[in-house]
Amino acid sequence: MRIDLTGKTALVTGASRGIGESIARRLGEAGAHVLCAARSADAVNKLAAEIGNATGVELDITAPDVRDRIGALLKERPIDILVNNAGVTDDDLFIRMKPDAWTKVLHTNLDSAFHITQEVVKKMIRARWGRVINISSVVGLMGNPGQVNYASSKAALIGFTKSLALEIGSRNVTVNAIAPGYIATAMTDALADDAREKLTERIAVKRLGTADDIAYSVVFLASEQASYITGTVLNVSGGLYT
Ligand code: NDP
Repeated sequence: MRIDLTGKTALVTGASRGIGESIARRLGEAGAHVLCAARSADAVNKLAAEIGNATGVELDITAPDVRDRIGALLKERPIDILVNNAGVTDDDLFIRMKPDAWTKVLHTNLDSAFHITQEVVKKMIRARWGRVINISSVVGLMGNPGQVNYASSKAALIGFTKSLALEIGSRNVTVNAIAPGYIATAMTDALADDAREKLTERIAVKRLGTADDIAYSVVFLASEQASYITGTVLNVSGGLYT
């Protein structure tokens, strides 16, 4: 079995680095045309050039005109695969958490997924084919001290995934979430060495994940072979959470 996404277009948010960059590369390898979106124009343009069958898209998913921007992309080509990957953290203990930190994280991680997905899914429904893949987190399943805002956003994405899957499954559009554990990226580079060691101890396979561990799961969920999987949360955490 070989996954072949030739002829499909994928939009990946947060493609300038980390997990999103790997997702874009692997979808491109599988034959999809990849729209690599993020705020860092240079990074997404460079990535798109490296992938070849790809386009860099400078996009702030929190911008008030994000729906118009997605509408403009859709005029150029239909989007068959949407990966809502862009996300931020702004950690603090709950009693100290500033309202701005709450709002920023919920707005980026959740509200943007609502706006972008609504625009894209309308066309998928008409085309009778689509894949929506939301990058959540195991933290949304198990909680994490210092991340009430982030865990709330990621748990909400799971409710979003399950509910939308029920609404549009009959139109041949699947909606799934991936819940990564701790993946070695800029987001986890911020951890102190001893914190990283303690964390690794808690992971059954005794290593942090790689961005490709997530990217390969995305490619599978995007494939024709995954057409009977919808409304699910794929836990890719090396056994951190079971
Ligand atoms: P990084 O911090 O390495 O990358 C985040 C990406 O999101 C960047 O490409 C950034 O691009 C983009 N982004 C952030 N804000 C915006 C915005 N307003 N508009 C457009 N793009 C934006 O994170 P990771 O690769 O580690 O994480 C990717 C996803 O995986 C996130 O949703 C994260 O929550 C999730 N995740 C990560 C885990 C980990 O251990 N790393 C674990 C579980 C989940 P730019 O700054 O150029 O806009």
